[in-house]
Amino acid sequence: MNAIAIDGPAASGKSTVGFKVGRSLDFLFFDTGVMYRAVAWAILDKGISSADSEVVGRVAGALPISVNAPSRGESDGRQATIRIGELDVTWSIRSRQVDSIVSVVAANGKVRQELSRKQRLIGLEHGSGAGGKSGIVMAGRDIGTVVLPEAPLKIYLEAPLEERSRRRFRELSERGKAANFTDVQEDMLLRDKIDSERAVAPLRPAPGAHRIQTQGKTVQEVVGRILALAEEVLGVGPVSTGDEDVPFEGSPGNH
Ligand code: C5P
Repeated sequence: MNAIAIDGPAASGKSTVGFKVGRSLDFLFFDTGVMYRAVAWAILDKGISSADSEVVGRVAGALPISVNAPSRGESDGRQATIRIGELDVTWSIRSRQVDSIVSVVAANGKVRQELSRKQRLIGLEHGSGAGGKSGIVMAGRDIGTVVLPEAPLKIYLEAPLEERSRRRFRELSERGKAANFTDVQEDMLLRDKIDSERAVAPLRPAPGAHRIQTQGKTVQEVVGRILALAEEVLGVGPVSTGDEDVPFEGSPGNH
């Protein structure tokens, strides 16, 4: 199976790295966090409390979320276009309001059941190589443990809280979203805590996962390490190269 699972806490570099690995190998890159964000955005939009677990679960089951490669007219730095029905929510799901409730929404068992079932189907379809699909890189919190535990290559990215908070702060500032560093750091600490302490599918490295520290490394160094592992484990090599190297500054999908 041509599948790479990338898990790790917020702003550890999963989408920046995963996107580039996917592009190099011509594998689909799928960031599962956008689905939890879409549900969180929808319940804010509908004025539903994140604590109302039954209603939140029902919303997750019925929400028409679609994730597609950006079209030509959507070249604003996005990695994918996220829609709820016809509505483009690509940037609105990145708000701080969504950040502040998404982990509570993602700890809801019914929400996880709905979303991880869909994610698993996508993973199996692309990972199996059926219908000319070449493979998949999936990023999230529970890909190696729950969504696609059979992925032959599992990665767990990590970076200290301080560094991850700096990345998120920079990213918000670049998008013109004024934020206070301490607030960003506190939000992230809380999100990490909820994500790793929840009863269902908590954030943790899958058995056999390769743990990679991203602090002090460039994006291309981490991408290179994963590509080397992909060659070793999956027997696949890059079909495209030549990216300019950059430090970690938040994901291209987060501008
Ligand atoms: O990856 P990102 O930070 O965009 O994910 C937003 C939130 O979605 C995470 O904090 C986590 O609560 C949830 N999530 C999850 N399982 C995944 C992906 C994301 O619980 N596979």
